[in-house]
Amino acid sequence: MEFDYTPEQIHLRKSVREFAESEIGPHVMEWDEAQTFPLEVVKKLGQLGYLGSIFPEEYGGAGLGYIDYSIIIEELSRVDGSVGIIVAAHNSLCSNHIYQYGSEEQRRKYLVPLASGEHLGAWGLTEPSAGSDASGTKSTASRTVAGWTVNGSKNFITHAIHADTCVSMAVTDKAKRSKGISAFIFEKGMKGFSPSKKENKLGLRASETASVVFEDCFVPDEQLLGEEGQGFVNAMEILDGGRISIAALAVGIAQGAFESAVRYSQERQQFGKPIAEFQAIQFKLADMATRIDAARLMMYRAAWLKDNGLKTTKESSMAKLFASEVSVNVCEEAIQIHGGYGYTKDYPPEKYWRDSKLCTIGEGTSEIQRIIIAREVLKQV
Ligand SMILES: Cc1cc2nc3c(=O)[nH]c(=O)nc-3n(C[C@H](O)[C@H](O)[C@H](O)COP(=O)(O)OP(=O)(O)OC[C@H]3O[C@@H](n4cnc5c(N)ncnc54)[C@H](O)[C@@H]3O)c2cc1C
Repeated sequence: MEFDYTPEQIHLRKSVREFAESEIGPHVMEWDEAQTFPLEVVKKLGQLGYLGSIFPEEYGGAGLGYIDYSIIIEELSRVDGSVGIIVAAHNSLCSNHIYQYGSEEQRRKYLVPLASGEHLGAWGLTEPSAGSDASGTKSTASRTVAGWTVNGSKNFITHAIHADTCVSMAVTDKAKRSKGISAFIFEKGMKGFSPSKKENKLGLRASETASVVFEDCFVPDEQLLGEEGQGFVNAMEILDGGRISIAALAVGIAQGAFESAVRYSQERQQFGKPIAEFQAIQFKLADMATRIDAARLMMYRAAWLKDNGLKTTKESSMAKLFASEVSVNVCEEAIQIHGGYGYTKDYPPEKYWRDSKLCTIGEGTSEIQRIIIAREVLKQV
């Protein structure tokens, strides 16, 4: 067992931190209040290689592993969870679906511009009536000459408006239920494919979440992604990797809130001394630090399994479940340590707390993670 970062990982963390603190930090609250999608920063993330973190260099990626990728997401989210989720959704969902299941031609045509940051990706699984039960997908793809006609809609899609490429699931054979759902690649501007309502969210407000609509949208055969009928099965595998990045998002948000609480507790004086000298506050800080550490270790274990080509379903879900619940708890304690000031927008914890909540919902709620973990645990005994 090895608990050290490599020199490259130490350097990577330092570089991401410097970038996040100088290029993102000064704008966090302005973007949050105005729900500004930070396009200029997204371009820079592409130039730095972060939008192709987990893909080989031959496809325009940075050729990094999931541990490195977790470091990138954690460091970005420590400053702004919105930027963390932008990188996570782009890499883990849309781009990775094309990398894992795309043909060589599809990888060349779609993955290369995505991994180099020239294009932005979205991934559509969720529908208004198919959330946790994504096998209940209602969007349909009907066979036509040389392709498919897609009708339906997706909601809560990250980058629905700005994405150049969108991977989306639709039913190709209703009788086969979850084995009758296929994945398709949609390009911005295709006739019959358009973004719709943008959500006004509690947190992660600089990340864009909107619906997409398919109205008699013709998709040629070359844009069927993976085997016909395997879209749902493949999507579940994609989520195994995606949940590691949600754990990293949660850990980064928690770390940012924790650091803010430590700083404040050393500055704020009550009863003639810094509040950090009260044991009640020290115990909170000790619990927060311990929980964040445990969450980070679970995230690294899942990342290590992934980097070694091993199955991560249980470990990804455990890391995502634990890290996201730790994140909400740590952010809430950070507000408590800030007292009344923590309840205002003048101090960071309230935003961290709003952002952290998504981690218990996106890419499968905490309840769904418990179902997955229980299923895996019961298989093993
Ligand atoms: C900011 C944001 C970004 C997102 N980005 C994307 C994206 O890019 N692409 C995408 O496809 N989706 C995305 N989603 C959707 C997200 O994955 C879903 O919101 C999530 O899976 C839950 O689905 P739902 O919202 O329909 O809730 P529901 O499934 O309706 O769940 C409601 C409640 O019921 C509980 N529940 C449901 N079924 C069970 C059960 N069997 N047992 C116990 N409890 C249960 C849930 O845990 C939850 O508490 C995003 C969501 C948000 C908020």
